[in-house]
Amino acid sequence: MPSDRDVPSNLSVPSFLLDNFCHATRPERIAGTPCLIDDATGEKVFMEELRARTQYLASAITVNWNFSMFVVSIPDFSTTLSDFPPCVWATHRLGGIVATLSPSLSVGELEHHLKISRPSLLFVHSECFTIALQAASKLLLPLSKIVVLDGPTSVFMASPLQLCQSFDSLIGQGSLLPPAIEKPFKEGEAKTRIAFLAPSSGTTGVQKAVAISHFNVISIVIQAATFNRIGEDYTRWEDRRFRPGDICCGFLPLYHIYGLVYNLHFMLYAGMTLVLAPKFHFESFLKSIERYRMTHLTIVPPQAVLLCKHPAVQNCSLSSVRYCIVAAAPLSASLTRGLLKALPNVMHLGQGYGMTETCGTVSMFPLSQNVGTLGSGGQLLPGTVAKVVKEDGTLAQVGDVGELYVQGGQVALGYYGDEKATRETFVDGWLRTGDQVFFKENGDIYIVERIKELIKVKGLQVAPAELEGHLLMHRSIADAAVIGVPDEYAGELPMAFVVLQPAAAALVEHDPKNAIKLQSSIYKHVASAKSKHKWLSGGILFTDVIPRNASGKILRRILRDTKTRNIVGS
Ligand code: AMP
Repeated sequence: MPSDRDVPSNLSVPSFLLDNFCHATRPERIAGTPCLIDDATGEKVFMEELRARTQYLASAITVNWNFSMFVVSIPDFSTTLSDFPPCVWATHRLGGIVATLSPSLSVGELEHHLKISRPSLLFVHSECFTIALQAASKLLLPLSKIVVLDGPTSVFMASPLQLCQSFDSLIGQGSLLPPAIEKPFKEGEAKTRIAFLAPSSGTTGVQKAVAISHFNVISIVIQAATFNRIGEDYTRWEDRRFRPGDICCGFLPLYHIYGLVYNLHFMLYAGMTLVLAPKFHFESFLKSIERYRMTHLTIVPPQAVLLCKHPAVQNCSLSSVRYCIVAAAPLSASLTRGLLKALPNVMHLGQGYGMTETCGTVSMFPLSQNVGTLGSGGQLLPGTVAKVVKEDGTLAQVGDVGELYVQGGQVALGYYGDEKATRETFVDGWLRTGDQVFFKENGDIYIVERIKELIKVKGLQVAPAELEGHLLMHRSIADAAVIGVPDEYAGELPMAFVVLQPAAAALVEHDPKNAIKLQSSIYKHVASAKSKHKWLSGGILFTDVIPRNASGKILRRILRDTKTRNIVGS
């Protein structure tokens, strides 16, 4: 069982991952196996190349800007996936922090995140350039501090792009420079130095930036490796869940903690190859599994639904898949059964449970269960301590339901620049998860309900407070509340309860057709300003009053019990 003492506290993420750092849990990569394969182009990227490009970029950044820097990177999922890791690790080598963000943010959403992280440098794909430029200009970030990843050369001829740095020219420049030297951390320093700012709304409010230390990342990698017995003296070959040479799908976004840590950092540590893919497209995903004979699938429930139900699965062979984990949202027992049928040779199948604030993972289906207990989120990773607190504040016993609190090397430092939110969620050395759970005698954890204000659509976060704030800007709306309603494919969909302004209510009263027009206008109001997974596809319902408690908190349980569902748009 790793304790903090088994995890080095004087290493940065790249020194741990790239510099041949040895640990009892680390297997050796098989010579000649690539770290990454770009699914779009078939290009293979080897460890030496990742190291070199990281080094070149670090040298170029030092020469061009020479600051203790801060980066926001916006990876785009159409072309330049293999450039993402060097951006991350070059920043880390120079002592900088990487804020990971979705490539499909709207201007307003990006501006919100940039206001939190205040970047000194912005890495952006040319396809997101226009949005990035609008958001960056509001924060007075000059064009000279925007690095454009990829894009045709002709794009760079156009103003204002020509004022930006191009990633390729920085790599070219860096290859001619002496290597930038990473300043080593002192003992313990990795515990306080921030490696990533990852988006999450936590238990309440709008999106924040979770401050994840270098130690958190290294710890979760070692915790997961120990849990899956990498590096032990095996007697049973079948027990080894991750073996050098194995091939894992990389169809999860790299800005989300699941893709960032479990796919990118853990799979590379395990000596495996990650096939990085552009935007998720199910039939391409199936073809890639066949083409690369993928052994490992790391997926979210909607992808599990497709594997169980999509007719295209009948026409392909998924016989290479040995391991499949489903995480980020609950996986039902029936879907688990469906996956067992769809993946004929799967030897290890189950759930993982965690959150951005725990660097992705709290629990996983244990090695003792080839198929994780149906409906369970698995068992605690080694080095993780949990307590379950009942509504009356007392500690739960086995089988009692209560809110889960956790401690461990993977628990993040807090919310960047937001002391109030940090104090509310990181309490006396414990992380409040906002999830209601219970444990069984054998250590299996069951996630009963999410009590925090968070909706999960296809595994992605939607903060009700963000949508409610935006809805109030619609001129016909007096009050609003947003909840998640169940959906077979997406898990949940956002649904709005809306109290109309008196004039708008009178119009609806006068002619019910006006209700449809208003719903459509409200739907568009959200769709025009927010990422697609936040659109009100769960419906918009007019109501007389939003139920609140004495302190003004929305009583969402009452709204959830309101059965009426009124779908608008899709
Ligand atoms: P995120 O920070 O985006 O990873 O979201 C974390 C939240 O997703 C958790 O606090 C849970 O509410 C939910 N979640 C993650 N994994 C599971 C799971 N296996 N079962 C149920 N809920 C989950």
